[in-house]
Formats: sequence, structure tokens, C-alpha cells
Amino acid sequence: MGKIPLGISQCLMGERVRYDGSHKRNHYLMDVLAEVVEFHPVCPEVAIGLGIPRKPIRLVIKGGETRVRGIENPDLDVTGALVAHAEIVAQQMPDICGYVFIQNSPSCGVFGVKRYLPNGNPIDREGRGAYARRFMELMPLLPVEEAGRLNDAGLRENFLTRVFAYYDFKTHIAPAPTAKKLIEFYSRYKYQVMAHHVPSYFAIGRYLSNLAARDIQKSSEEFFQLFMDALKHHATRKGNTNAMMHLRGYLKEVLGTQDKQELSQLIDSYKAGHVPLVVPLTLLKHHLIKLDNPYLKSQSFWAPHPEYLGLRNHIIED
Ligand code: SF4
Repeated sequence: MGKIPLGISQCLMGERVRYDGSHKRNHYLMDVLAEVVEFHPVCPEVAIGLGIPRKPIRLVIKGGETRVRGIENPDLDVTGALVAHAEIVAQQMPDICGYVFIQNSPSCGVFGVKRYLPNGNPIDREGRGAYARRFMELMPLLPVEEAGRLNDAGLRENFLTRVFAYYDFKTHIAPAPTAKKLIEFYSRYKYQVMAHHVPSYFAIGRYLSNLAARDIQKSSEEFFQLFMDALKHHATRKGNTNAMMHLRGYLKEVLGTQDKQELSQLIDSYKAGHVPLVVPLTLLKHHLIKLDNPYLKSQSFWAPHPEYLGLRNHIIED
């Protein structure tokens, strides 16, 4: 597998593009994730000609609309330029499989960016950067996260699960979809989706059972939307436990009493938050692989991302 293309706020790469000439290099992204992804950096404020250093800007609510305006020069309004640049970049980078933005930026922030009244008083933290907002409208299924939130083990794992699944679909299915390929693809992700969201697991199954009379291109797009929406739900300890219990069912007639007890104890310990997912999953996989069942062996649930990233070695909050 080649490196996965990912968009990134340029200052996260350690490049001095911020308004004050500084950077926000992110150790995890640059020293760990860069092993498996290829970053495509964008600094929208530099790209629209604001320069380095530059006067700071912020989100201002005026006439019910959120605009990006200069702090020292409130007449400066760069909203339109940032939106237009998002449209250019979305066209230039159609193959990216995710985007890591930086938090608290009136251009790049995704969640809870501070907004102000025209008189300079802060009003709330409900804003989204103008560039990020437009980019997300243009690529609504693209996995997107803020660098700061990647410090949370659960959010980090969810984001990267979505990135790898997105890449898998875009590489192997989207270029030439067929009904058979869609069904085989979903067959590999069944337990993963079950861990994320049981209603989606059933809804996608129903959708794929009725493909015959439909246009395959449209079906592929609709399936992808259902699939990515399902993975947006976090795989909680409860969800992962449910998937493992279903997989354990295959071992009912195979394992002896002692092995069954050992496996159940580890799954219970995981559910209670005493051990990370990798612990019961390793034992479950150890037993199931011996069945030599191609369907079970192909499950993405075993390793939705490279194991050396260690994304399942943490106890996640439920
Ligand atoms: S937050 Fe966005 S606009 Fe600001 S310096 Fe970083 S990449 Fe550039």
C-alpha cells in the first residue's frame, strides 16, 4: 500500500506561515503518522496573499452572517477569498483521503472557533474557519479532524479508521464499481461497522440486498455515504464488545471450557475499561484464525489501520 494522501494546515508541518511568523509543528503528525500518509500542506491565508507576518484576523458576526475580518482593520474582509481558495484546493486535491486542520483558526478551525461582535466583544465559540467550512461542504464525506483533538485516543482512532476505509474504497471500488465488488467490500467491513453503529450495520445490509435493478454508479455513491456515515459513529467499548461477542459465537463448538472462560474474562475486562482493545482482540483473533474461514480472516475489524500505530493500545472513554 502506498502512502495515503492527506490535506493538512501548513503550520502543523513546522512551516513558519502563521500571522506572527511562527509555526505549530505537531509531533504526532510529523513523526508518527507521516510514516503512512503523504501530507499536502495548504496555508489559505498565505495563499490569498495576506503575507508573513500579517495582521491577525478573526470571525465576526455581522447582520446574522459570520465573516472573517481584520482585528486592527475591521474593513478588511477576507471571507470571499478564503471560500474561493477552498474551491480551488478541492479541485486540485480530489484524491486526498482526509484532512487535519488546526484548531482555533478563523480560516482553518473546525470546531468551536471563537466569534466576536463588531465591537470586539467575544460572543460564543460556535464558529468554523471560513476555508475549512467551504472545504467540508465540497467534500462532505472526507474524514476531517483537528490536530488538537488527535490527542484523544478515541477520536484519533476514529479519524484514522475513517481515513483508511475511505482510501480503501476510493482505491479499490470507486474507479469501477460493480454489485459484486460492493458486496465483497462490505463483507470485509461488517464487524467494523457493527462496532461503530448497529442500526447502520442492518441498514447497509438491507441496501446491498437490493442492488439488481439500480444504477451501479449511483448505488456505489449511496453505499459510500451510508458507510462513511456509519464510521462517523465512534466504536465505543460497548460497540467493540458487541462485535467481539458476535465473533466469539464462531468458537462456541470449538473452544474448551477454560479457553472460553479466558476469552470471556478478557472481553469483560475490556468492557469495564481495565485493558485496551488489543488485549481481547489478540486472543480472539488467535482462536478464529485457526478456523481458516476466509470471511473471518478478511475482516477489517482485526486491523483497520497498521498495528504499529498502536491505536488500539489505549483505554478509551465510553
Ligand atoms: S491556521 Fe491555517 S491559515 Fe493559519 S497559519 Fe495555519 S495553515 Fe495558515
